[in-house]
Amino acid sequence: MTARILVVDDIPANVKLLEVRLLAEYFEVLTATNGMDAIETCENGKIDVVLLDVMMPDMDGFEVCRRLKSDPATSHIPVVMVTALDHVSDRVRGLEAGADDFLTKPVNDLQLMTRVRSLVRLKMLTDELRLRASTTRNIGIEELLARREPAAEARPQVLLIDESAESAGQAAGMLAEIADVQVASDPHVGFFRAAEGSFDCIIVSTGFAEFDPLRLCSQLRSIDRTRFVPIILLAEMGEDERVVRGLELGINDYLTRPVDRQELTARLRTQVRRKRYNDHLRSSVTQTIEMAVIDPLTGLHNRRYLDSHLQTLFDRAVARRRPLSLLITDIDRFKSINDTYGHDGGDKILHEFAQRLRKNVRGIDLACRFGGEEFVVVMPDTEAGIAEKVAERVRAEIADKPFRIGEQTITVTASVGVSALKRETDSPHDLLKRADLGLYEAKSGGRNRVVAKAA
Ligand code: GH3
Ligand code: MG
Ligand code: MG
Repeated sequence: MTARILVVDDIPANVKLLEVRLLAEYFEVLTATNGMDAIETCENGKIDVVLLDVMMPDMDGFEVCRRLKSDPATSHIPVVMVTALDHVSDRVRGLEAGADDFLTKPVNDLQLMTRVRSLVRLKMLTDELRLRASTTRNIGIEELLARREPAAEARPQVLLIDESAESAGQAAGMLAEIADVQVASDPHVGFFRAAEGSFDCIIVSTGFAEFDPLRLCSQLRSIDRTRFVPIILLAEMGEDERVVRGLELGINDYLTRPVDRQELTARLRTQVRRKRYNDHLRSSVTQTIEMAVIDPLTGLHNRRYLDSHLQTLFDRAVARRRPLSLLITDIDRFKSINDTYGHDGGDKILHEFAQRLRKNVRGIDLACRFGGEEFVVVMPDTEAGIAEKVAERVRAEIADKPFRIGEQTITVTASVGVSALKRETDSPHDLLKRADLGLYEAKSGGRNRVVAKAA
C-alpha cells in the first residue's frame, strides 16, 4: 500500500526518526516543522495521513488539528496526534480537536504501522467516494455535503457486544448521556442484531469465555449491512497483539481497560462523525450519479446517458459481430395534448408512455427519454426484423389502450422509426440518423405507424 504521509514535529530528529521508519515501509513521506507549513502542505499536497506532534511552539498540534478538521478541503485527512505525554486528558483533547487517533512517544513500531495502514485504508475509501462524486458532478459535491441531514445530528445508535453484564453495564452507563446503547451478551445474537439493525457503531469486548471476538469482527466486516459500521474493540491490558490483528481485520479503534469515560465518549464521537461523513458522501454519490443520468419525469435514462452508453453497446456489437437495433418514437400531436390538458396533463401522458415503453422492451434494452416527447430504445442482440416487430408492439400498446388524465381518457398515438446496424462502417450517429429518417417518414406518412430503415 503506497500512501503519502506528512510528519510534523518541531524537532528535526523526531521527524527523521519517523521518516526513516515510514520510508522503510515504502510510504512516501513529506515533513513539516511547524503548524503553518503543515496546514499549507495539507491544502496542496494530497496527503493521506498526518502524524502530528502535539507540543510545538507558535501553534500546537491541537490547534493545527482543529484547523485541518474545520476546513472542508482538509477535514477528510486522517490526523494522528503524536504525544510525549501519556495522559488521558491529552488524548481526549486531541480527539475533541478532531484527531482520528494518537500515538505515544516513543512510538511503538507495530502500532505506528498498523494505525497508519488502517487510516490509509479508510482514507482511500473516502477518496474513492469523493472522486466518484466529483467526476459525476452534476451539482457540486460540496453543495450536497453541505445539505446536512437531520440524521447527521441524531443520537448515535450503538450496539455493545459484551458477555459480562458488569462491564457492559459500566460502558453503557458511560455512554448513556450521548448515545442510545443496546447490549447483546451473546456474540451470535449480537451479530444478528448488528446485521438487522442500523447502528452507527459497534463496540465489541474481547472478554468472551468461549468465543473469539476477532471472528465476530471479521464477520461484521464481511457482510454488506455492517461493512461500513465502525467497530471499537474493548481490550484488556496486554492484549496488544490481538488489537493489532483486529486493526488488520478492519476494526476502527480500540480502548484498553480500565475504560475512561471521556476517552470512550470521544472515540465514539470520532467514529460516528467519520461514518456519517462517509455515509453522506456515499449517498451523495448515488444521488449525483442518478441525477446525472436519469430523467426525473419518466425514470428512464436521459440523453446524456444514451450519448455515452450507445457507443459502448455499439462497439460491443461490432466486436462480437452481433446485431444491434434502435428505435426512435415520438408522440403524435403532443402539442395539442398539452394545449387541451395543460402541461401537467402532458406530463402524466409522458410518464405513462414511458412505463408502457419500458414494459414492452427487454431488461437489457436501453430505453431513454431522448428529449421532449421523443424516446429511444437501443436493442442489443436484435436483428432488424425483430426490432421492427418490437416497434410495432410498442406502437400498438400506445394506440390501443387509452391513456387517463384524471377522469378523462384520451387516445394517444406515436410514430416510430427503426434502424439496425448493418455495416462495420456504421457509427452510433448513423444508427440514430437512420432511425430519425424512419420517424420522419412515419410522420409524413400519416403518423401512428412504424417505418424501418434497414441500412
Ligand atoms: P408531431 O406529431 O409532429 O410530433 O407533433 P407534436 O405536437 O408532437 O410535435 P412538436 O415537436 O411540435 O411538439 C412537441 C411538444 O412537446 C412541444 C413541447 O412543449 C412539448 N413538451 C416537450 N417537453 C415536454 C414536457 O416535459 N412536458 C410536457 N407536458 N410537454 C413537453
Ligand atoms: Mg411529437
Ligand atoms: Mg417532437
